[in-house]
Amino acid sequence: MPNDRKLHTDTRIVHAGRDFDSGIGRPFNPPVVRWSSVLFDNLKRMRETESRGQLSYGANGNPTAQALEAFVTELEGGHGTRLYATGLAAIAQMFQSYLRPGDHVLITDAVYGPVRRLANNFLAPFGIEFEYFAADGCDIESLIRPNTAMVYAEVPGSLAFEMCDLPALSTLCKRHDILLAVDNTWGSGVLYRPLQLGADISVMALTKYIAGHSDVMMGSVTTTEACWETLTRMNTAVGNTVSPDDAYLVLRGARTVRARLAMHQQHALQVAEWLQARPEVARVLHPALPDDPSHALWQRDFSGANGLLSFEFKQRDPEVIDRFVAALKLFGIGYSWGGFESLVSVVTTRGTRSVADWSTHGPMLRLHVGLENPDDLIRDLEAGFAAIG
Ligand SMILES: *Cc1c(COP(=O)(O)O)cnc(C)c1O
Repeated sequence: MPNDRKLHTDTRIVHAGRDFDSGIGRPFNPPVVRWSSVLFDNLKRMRETESRGQLSYGANGNPTAQALEAFVTELEGGHGTRLYATGLAAIAQMFQSYLRPGDHVLITDAVYGPVRRLANNFLAPFGIEFEYFAADGCDIESLIRPNTAMVYAEVPGSLAFEMCDLPALSTLCKRHDILLAVDNTWGSGVLYRPLQLGADISVMALTKYIAGHSDVMMGSVTTTEACWETLTRMNTAVGNTVSPDDAYLVLRGARTVRARLAMHQQHALQVAEWLQARPEVARVLHPALPDDPSHALWQRDFSGANGLLSFEFKQRDPEVIDRFVAALKLFGIGYSWGGFESLVSVVTTRGTRSVADWSTHGPMLRLHVGLENPDDLIRDLEAGFAAIG
């Protein structure tokens, strides 16, 4: 990677994580290097490798994963990155690294749903207190306690894409000596760079746009220099690593993330604007829409949007969702997002927010708008509306 801070994101995506040297010629993409034991020519080399903190055993990592770590570090503008089997595992080990019994952590009300289960099943039994703060961050200052060790944000939030002002939140956290960790899966290091806006830790589900092909799972944690040692110490202690085959797939997919995201954004906006004009729709949530509550902060802090949007039906009968989805042929029914294909999933309005009142919402669907032609997708959605008419 040429060491030039002025390089644009597009250029960094093409060149980062390619320092692998086979000793003959170099492949474009770092190869899959499978190892458990690492062989050394002599004890001197073995000792040198260890004292430099380089890879000396498979449980510490492998060269393929290391190339992906370098790529993610470059994208996030951080000091270093560690990889995990899934995005959720990355969040869990990040908590495990920085939180101790007696600590208090503030979690965004807009958090990725399974993190609520993680808080109930991991934080609580280990004596780590947690509370949810409003998705726009307005109540954080009043919730800070002497033992608050971390604020865990997600910008924008899952399902409704609420935004908080991260630079302002960072100033507040620094004043109280609190770590600021952010789930950056939505922006994927391309559209949003939390570490540049004052966060200490950025977590991503690489499963989504970075890998981009719906066939591999991985998570990443990238930190500033000050937070790095704590993360790596725990990582080594628990013996966490990822498969070189998976790391290869993620890095291969990542080379085109920028091009894919530009198309996802364009298609999603076209679908979102079309949905806004439908008489059956109460509202459409997507930060690039000028009337979205998150629009101003999105314009200020993000360099683009992705393929996600949610919309609410005017009809209150929850059955409307089943009839609508049953009529769709191009939108697959499934969890997750960030792959090349369009997906639909139900936004559960009960139990998804602790602070915000979602009890008054009508039935809601989330769409991941894929790389298909948006005119075809709109025709598919038209069939959905015809079925509820
Ligand atoms: C999907 C997702 C995760 C979890 O990633 P997995 O790889 O599916 O475990 C975490 N955060 C957000 C915002 C997500 O959308």
